[in-house]
Amino acid sequence: MAEHAAAAEAAELFDLLCVATTMRQILALHRTMCEAVGLRPSPLNDYYPKLKAKVRSWKAAALWKKFDARAAHRVYGKGTACAGTRVLVIGAGPCGLRTAIEAQLLGAKVVVLEKRDRISRNNVLHLWPFVITDLRNLGAKKFYGKFCAGSIDHISIRQLQCMLLKVALLLGVEIHEGVSFEHALEPGGDAVGWRAAVTPADHPVSHYEFDVLIGADGKRNMLDFRRKEFRGKLAIAITANFVNKKTEAEAKVEEISGVAFIFNQAFFKELYGKTGIDLENIVYYKDETHYFVMTAKKHSLIDKGVIIEDMADPAELLAGPNVDTQKLHDYAREAAEFSTQYQMPNLEFAVNHYGKPDVAMFDFTSMFAAEMSCRVIVRKGCRLLQCLVGDSLLEPFWPTGSGCARGFLSSMDAAYAIKLWSNPQNSTLGVLAQRESIYRLLNQTTPDTLQRDISAYTVDPATRYPNLNRESVNSWQVKHLIDTDDPSVLEQTFMDTQHAGPHVETPGRRKRRSGDSMPQGASLLRWIAAQLHSHQFVPELKEPSDVLRNGRVLCGLISRYRPDLIEFAVTKDMSPLECNELAFAVLERELGVKRIMSAKQSLELTDIESRIWLNYLDQICELFRGE
Ligand code: FAD
Repeated sequence: MAEHAAAAEAAELFDLLCVATTMRQILALHRTMCEAVGLRPSPLNDYYPKLKAKVRSWKAAALWKKFDARAAHRVYGKGTACAGTRVLVIGAGPCGLRTAIEAQLLGAKVVVLEKRDRISRNNVLHLWPFVITDLRNLGAKKFYGKFCAGSIDHISIRQLQCMLLKVALLLGVEIHEGVSFEHALEPGGDAVGWRAAVTPADHPVSHYEFDVLIGADGKRNMLDFRRKEFRGKLAIAITANFVNKKTEAEAKVEEISGVAFIFNQAFFKELYGKTGIDLENIVYYKDETHYFVMTAKKHSLIDKGVIIEDMADPAELLAGPNVDTQKLHDYAREAAEFSTQYQMPNLEFAVNHYGKPDVAMFDFTSMFAAEMSCRVIVRKGCRLLQCLVGDSLLEPFWPTGSGCARGFLSSMDAAYAIKLWSNPQNSTLGVLAQRESIYRLLNQTTPDTLQRDISAYTVDPATRYPNLNRESVNSWQVKHLIDTDDPSVLEQTFMDTQHAGPHVETPGRRKRRSGDSMPQGASLLRWIAAQLHSHQFVPELKEPSDVLRNGRVLCGLISRYRPDLIEFAVTKDMSPLECNELAFAVLERELGVKRIMSAKQSLELTDIESRIWLNYLDQICELFRGE
C-alpha cells in the first residue's frame, strides 16, 4: 500500500518536473521524486531501470520509450561501455549537460557542477538540423511541446538548458547548483584519486573522486588549456530581447534568418539612410522573447552616441564607461523596429539576470579556440583525462549561430574519448591522438559537410563526420599532452602504441605502411590543392615534397588567406627558390611560423629529415585551416 502511494507521488512529481521552468524547481522536484522512490543519482544501470519501474504514468512511459531507444544503441554497450569511470563536468550549460548525458548513457558515474543557481539567458540559439533531431530523440517535445514546431529552428538558451537538465537528471546524473569549480586536487592525504577544490569549500562534492574532468564552463575555460587567438576585423555584436506579449500583431511579424539577410545590401543601405544605423547583418527570432542579434559598424555606433570615444583597443572601446547605455538601448530598439517594418510598436525590453533591460554589446574581434582538446595528467599512479567541450573548446561567433551545433559535436566527441579511455586495452597516447584528429575537423563543420543521415548520429564520430581520418594526428604529436610524475608511464604508453598501434577500436582500420611518415599527407595535399583553386592555379601535387619543390604553392596558400601579405600574380615571374624564400620570410615575420630551412634546402630536401619538414607544412596548413 505504501509502495503504491510512493509510486503515485513519484508520478505526480514526474509530471510536475516535466513542465517546471526554473532550475530551482527542477532540482527540487527531482530530489523529492528520488526520495519518494528511494533512489539516488547513480550510473545508468543502477538508476534508470529502477526509476522506470517506479514511475509509470502515461507521460513517463512515452519518455521512457525515447530513452530506451537511445540507450539501446550498440555504442553504449548496454550502459557498460564506461562502467567504473567517474566523470566530473564543470558547468551545466548546454554542452556540459549534453556531455553528461552521453557519459551517463555510456555507463559512467557523472557529476555536474554549476556555479549559478539560476538559468536565465533569454538569448536564442540557432539549431542545425541534427541538433533538432538529437533533442527530439531525447524527448524535447515531452518537456516543451512547442519545441521546433513547423519550420522553427531555434530555441532560447534557457529553455534548452532546462530541457537538458531534466534529461540528465532522469537518466541518473548528479547535479549540484551554486557550486563553483576552482581547480583539480592531486591525489594525496586521504584521497586516493583526483578531487576538485570548490566554492563553497566544504560542499560534499569536494570528496568526489574522478578520473575524467570535462571543462564545459564556457569561454572562460578554468582548466587553463593553451588557446590560439583568431583576430579578425573589428566585429561588434549587439543582442536585444523584447517582451513577447504573444499578440496577433506580433505573431504575424516574420522572423529574419541570418542567411537571407546577410546578402541583402539594399536593406542595409535603406536602414543606414533612414536611421544612421549601419549593420553588417541582423537576425531576428521569435521565441519566448523577440530576440535580435546584429553586427554593428563602429562608425555608426560613434555617430549615434552609443560609443562615447573612439579607441583602437576593442576592449577599451566597449568598456562600460565608454558606452552610453540609454543610446545603446535606443540603437537596438530602432534597428529592431526598422527591420520588422514597424510591425511591433511599443517594443518593451525583457529583463536579464540582473533585472535590467536585456541588451548587451560584445566584441568578437578576436575569438579563441583551445590549441588541443584534451590532455592527461598522471600523479601517484592516478590518471586524469581532461577534455574541453563547447565554448571552452571553440568560441562561436553568435550572429552565425554555430555555437550550440559545434558545441554538441564536441560533447559527443568528448564522450567518445571517454569511451576509448575507459577501455584498458587502449593506450593513453592512442586516445589522445584520436581525439586530436577528430578535433581538427570541428571548425570546418557546417550542416552540409556532416553525414547526411542525421538520425544515425551517435558518439561514434564516423556516424557524423564523412571521410573521417582518425589518424591524422600521430602518437608522437601528442606526447606533450601527457603530464606525468612518473616518466615510465610515458615510456610505457609510447611503447604500447608502437606495439599495438595508436588507435584501437576503429573498425576497418588498416595498418599504416612502414615509412609512410605522414598519414595525413594525402588529405593535406587535397586540402592545399583546393585552396589554390581561387587563384586558378592547379599545380601537380603528387606528394608532400611537391608543395616545396613547386615554389608557388606556399605563396598561393598564404595569398589565399592573407592577400595583404603576398600578391599571388607577382609570383608568376619568380623562380621556385625566390618564391620559397618569400614564403618562408613572410611566414616567420608575419605569421609566427619559425623557419626551419633555407630556400635552397627546401628544393633539394636531402639534408633535412622528412619528419621535420612535414611537420613544418602541417603547421602552415593548420594556421590557415583555423581561419
Ligand atoms: P555556456 O552556455 O556558457 O555554459 C557554461 C556554464 O558553466 C554556465 O552555466 C556557467 O555558469 C558555468 N560555469 C562557469 N564557470 C564555472 C565554474 N567555475 N564552476 C561551475 N560552473 C561554471 N550564442 C548564440 O548563438 N547567440 C547568442 O545570442 C548568445 N548569447 C550568449 C549570451 C551569453 C551571456 C553567453 C555566456 C553566451 C551566449 N551565447 C550565444 C553562446 C551560447 O550560449 C553557447 O555557445 C552555448 O550555450 C554552448 O555553450 P556552453 O555550454 O559551452 O557554455
